[in-house]
Amino acid sequence: MKYDHILVRFGEISTKGKNRKKFIEKLRQHIRFVLKDFEALKYASDRDRITIMLNGEDPEPISEQLKSVFGIQSFSLAVKCETNLDAIKDAALTAIQEVYEQGNTFKVSTKRSYKQFELDSNEMNREIGGHVLRNTENLTVNVKQPDVHLRIEIRENATYITFKDVKGAGGLPVGSSGRAMLMLSGGFDSPVAGYQAMKRGIQIEAVHFFSPPYTSERAKQKVIDLAECLAAYGGEVKLHIVPFTKIQELIQKQVPENYTMTSTRRMMLKIADKIREKRDALAIVTGESLGQVASQTLESMYAINHVTNTPIIRPLIAVDKNDIIDEARRIGTYDTSIQPFEDCCTIFTPPSPKTKPKLEKVERYESFADFEPMLDEAVELMETIIVTNEKKAADEFADLF
Ligand code: ATP
Ligand code: MG
Repeated sequence: MKYDHILVRFGEISTKGKNRKKFIEKLRQHIRFVLKDFEALKYASDRDRITIMLNGEDPEPISEQLKSVFGIQSFSLAVKCETNLDAIKDAALTAIQEVYEQGNTFKVSTKRSYKQFELDSNEMNREIGGHVLRNTENLTVNVKQPDVHLRIEIRENATYITFKDVKGAGGLPVGSSGRAMLMLSGGFDSPVAGYQAMKRGIQIEAVHFFSPPYTSERAKQKVIDLAECLAAYGGEVKLHIVPFTKIQELIQKQVPENYTMTSTRRMMLKIADKIREKRDALAIVTGESLGQVASQTLESMYAINHVTNTPIIRPLIAVDKNDIIDEARRIGTYDTSIQPFEDCCTIFTPPSPKTKPKLEKVERYESFADFEPMLDEAVELMETIIVTNEKKAADEFADLF
């Protein structure tokens, strides 16, 4: 089948009133970004969809790429023809001749956005159905469960013929909901949490704490690789790598062993919040899931969360580990997360961390040392890298219109 267009529908964003223009613009940028290797493509957008002109490019790999773009509800490969009855009859017949198999059933559905067209939807269905029946063999009509569903959309300037809708990734275009910091470890959870935040339109910047020489370069590379996986969905991801060794050593020295975990998390959150402020972001995203480990009981979260008023987004709070792992497989972070490199937390994890830490206690333990200058120093020494996805990297978003 020689498709020449792809029709992209956005669903949810089309209900967003005044912001619609901004959303469509973001979505168009992302689509252009993931498809930048297909140079012949041209784009047009209106209020309810984006039309991609293939200009001879192969629609198969393009469809694959489109499936990862947030903000797309569905898309269809299409054949375009002129809006006149003879042209539509010809195009519809040619299209169905290429896709049907002997013994198949079919149905025609017409959507007429251009109300001045000479036939209405029902008349068109009958006209095109009859034309197809007269010119094919071994093809019959079944309006309830057709094997082939030929759809005709009549617009004033052009008519499109499609057969199926491909489901898109859903959600909102990345960037349309503002910016947040993602606390990204090397585990399974935080990359999945980042993906889900991105799916709701958040542009994430990742913060990772590492503790050389206790953690290796390979552990750091693992996090860069994870950021790269996420960049496939968001265009690019800024990754802030924060040296955390000195702080962890001070915690070990200062805080009783069963409270070191609580204190570590509090220091991480304080630093993440300082970076958030610097970067003008509005929230912090973590991979926490209630009850999963000692630091993720409600008591722990209460004691940890107390260091900031910034909204903490926890997309996985009610998700079971098995489901998180399935999601990691689906989004492509599993193979990286499963690599066995040590994380700064695992190395310093006490044998029995407090599952019900008391806020007053951890605050008192911390009060005997001056952490604040060290936190500022860590922010100063952090290294920022811009991670793009190799396969989909773009030089920049050039505006086509
Ligand atoms: P994950 O699978 O994301 O590592 P986890 O189940 O191992 O999570 P914790 O180790 O308790 O859980 O971490 C809870 C959250 O704290 C993580 O999801 C992540 O958001 C953040 N976090 C933990 N370690 C780091 C780190 N080294 N750098 C940045 N954030 C971290
Ligand atoms: Mg972890």
